Formats: sequence, structure tokens, C-alpha cells
Amino acid sequence: MPDQRQVRHHFMPKLSHLSDESWMRRALGLAERAEHLGEVPIGAVLVVNNELVAEGWNQPLSTNDPTAHAEIVALRAAAARLNNYRLTGSTLYVTLEPCVMCAGAIVQARVGRLVYGAPDPQRGAAGSAFDLLTAAALNHRPEIVGGVCASLCGERLREFFQQKRKA
Ligand SMILES: [Zn+2]
Repeated sequence: MPDQRQVRHHFMPKLSHLSDESWMRRALGLAERAEHLGEVPIGAVLVVNNELVAEGWNQPLSTNDPTAHAEIVALRAAAARLNNYRLTGSTLYVTLEPCVMCAGAIVQARVGRLVYGAPDPQRGAAGSAFDLLTAAALNHRPEIVGGVCASLCGERLREFFQQKRKA
């Protein structure tokens, strides 16, 4: 008979990895929605206990709102839905590494876990260009998982900018 504990030990990380990937695919679907609106294709979902709470997609142009990044849209919708400005214990999935503004909002909201797709070497604030989320001065530091579906997420952005240059 196999050792049950050992089986579970090996199975669990795989399971959570699989669900990270499926939530990221959902965020990618929202990135597509942004692209249909003529926005840079970035999508985000906020999840609590592996259940969807809110969705967001990048929309600063169509809403004339410089803060309407996918993460901010998802955080606002989630807080309104949960009737709580703290999103403790939540996981935020976003297709691109968050910028400085969104990293700040993630800390304000007390997001427990940040999972992002493609790294952003120019603006990423989760360690690529800035390292805001692990700063020792913060009283809240989310767990960070980067690079989930990174090539899919990055490819979508690269194609978008390539087509823009051609147009
Ligand atoms: Zn942002």
C-alpha cells in the first residue's frame, strides 16, 4: 500500500499550480476583452478560497481614467462586492507584472497572494524594475508567484504592440 501522506505531499503543489494556471487563463480572456476595446491587453481576476470574486481588464483609454488598470478595476469590484476594503486572504491574478500604482493598491487592499504572468522589465514593481512588494518597510507583504503562463501572456502583448506599429 502506498504511503498516503507521501502521495498527498506530492499531489498538493501540483493541484495549486494547475489552478493558478486556470485562473490565469481566465485573466487572459479578460485581456482579450481589453484588446477589443482598443486597450492594451491586460486582464486580472480576484479569487478568494478558489472562488471568483471579481474581474478586471485594462480600460484607461475608454474610461478616461488613468487609474483604470486591470488590477485596480478588479480590486475595486471585489471590495464593493465583499463590502470590505481589505481583501485579506485573496489571490490576485494578473497577466502582466503590476506597475507601481497597482503594487501600492495591492498592499492597501492586503491582498494575500499575487500571481502574475509576464514580467515587465520596464515598469514591473514586483521585482523587475522596482521591488515594492518585498520592501522591509511595508507592514504587509503579499506572497508573490511570477511567470504563470508567462509566454502566453507576453505573446498577447507583443502581438498587440506589433500590430499597433504596423497600423
Ligand atoms: Zn498598474
